[in-house]
Amino acid sequence: MKKRILLLAGGQSGEHEVSLMSARSVLNALPKDQFDVTPVVISKQGRWLPPTETQRALDSGEAATGGDLVLHRVASAEGYDAVFPLLHGPMGEDGTVQGLLTLAGIPFVGSGVLGSAVSMDKVMTKQVLESAGIPQVAWRLAVRREWQQQPDAVRDRAAGLGFPLFVKPANLGSSVGISKVNTPDELDAALNLAFGLDRRVILEAMTSHKPREVEVGILGNDAPIASPVGELRFAADFYDYETKYTEGRATMHIPAPLPPEVAERVRSVALTAFRALDCAGLARVDFFYVEETGELLLNEVNTMPGFTTTSMYPKLFEAAGLGYSELVTRLVTLALEER
Ligand code: ATP
Ligand code: MG
Ligand code: MG
Ligand code: MG
Repeated sequence: MKKRILLLAGGQSGEHEVSLMSARSVLNALPKDQFDVTPVVISKQGRWLPPTETQRALDSGEAATGGDLVLHRVASAEGYDAVFPLLHGPMGEDGTVQGLLTLAGIPFVGSGVLGSAVSMDKVMTKQVLESAGIPQVAWRLAVRREWQQQPDAVRDRAAGLGFPLFVKPANLGSSVGISKVNTPDELDAALNLAFGLDRRVILEAMTSHKPREVEVGILGNDAPIASPVGELRFAADFYDYETKYTEGRATMHIPAPLPPEVAERVRSVALTAFRALDCAGLARVDFFYVEETGELLLNEVNTMPGFTTTSMYPKLFEAAGLGYSELVTRLVTLALEER
């Protein structure tokens, strides 16, 4: 019997378009003899689109409006063996959709409510990983109300980390809303941008030198495995949205040319983080490797990483001998596994 899979894509976050790109790849790759896959695109307003509108959104790469309220569709989601919530950012990768599916009793690909919520929020992630003894950059939290009522306190907190520093919405991805702040006079614009996107903002010290950026994939539930380590190289000042999604701006190196001891440390720290955050299914763990000092700092954990056929996560497992189609099949199998 073929398994019926509901593939959710799009969604309300700033990574709507990225999600649709990933969904097209996954739709093509799930073996048709094993799976009967129904895509449902969620509009930017959070409404779930019927089949014809979903197809139109997949073709055009975007759905601004249209569709039904979420609950109506979930009722009809019963009867699916599993859901693949291929959604990035808030209202998708952050535990909200995972909570809905948990309540509906439908197995799904990836981390549950806890792992998704904690990993989505960069501040919560930092706190949990700190208590697991994992090295990270120095950081501070600021909330929107403080920025509105005591802006000087927020400015001082940021300045305490030294310049340049990074200002990021706590719950986003694809570098949306992230600024590298080189001097104090650039700080207000960066904070306004980040607070326009999130109530919580993380202020991060920059690594002591421009870091090498290495990433590793984790696959599995309670007995996870780590992929080979990959590296991203680009000419831009940092890995911003344009660099991520403009063809030819960044190159992927798999395996990353690292001393074997460093690559092993990346894999082992990533597995520790995956467990500490109670992740499941998959995650891409991003690190900064500061060559000058030998420091390896964990940057973040992405519980639903970019998933086109040319994205880092699938490429990492391809290097380990697991092709794209086998990988997505494995993820659905993991979703159906008893935990
Ligand atoms: P993703 O698309 O991987 O989910 P994201 O939006 O969650 O990304 P980050 O990975 O936190 O964003 O940061 C984006 C990029 O900004 C990093 O890849 C790196 O180039 C740069 N960067 C972020 N924080 C720092 C830091 N503390 N020091 C140096 N560079 C940084
Ligand atoms: Mg991220
Ligand atoms: Mg992300
Ligand atoms: Mg990242």
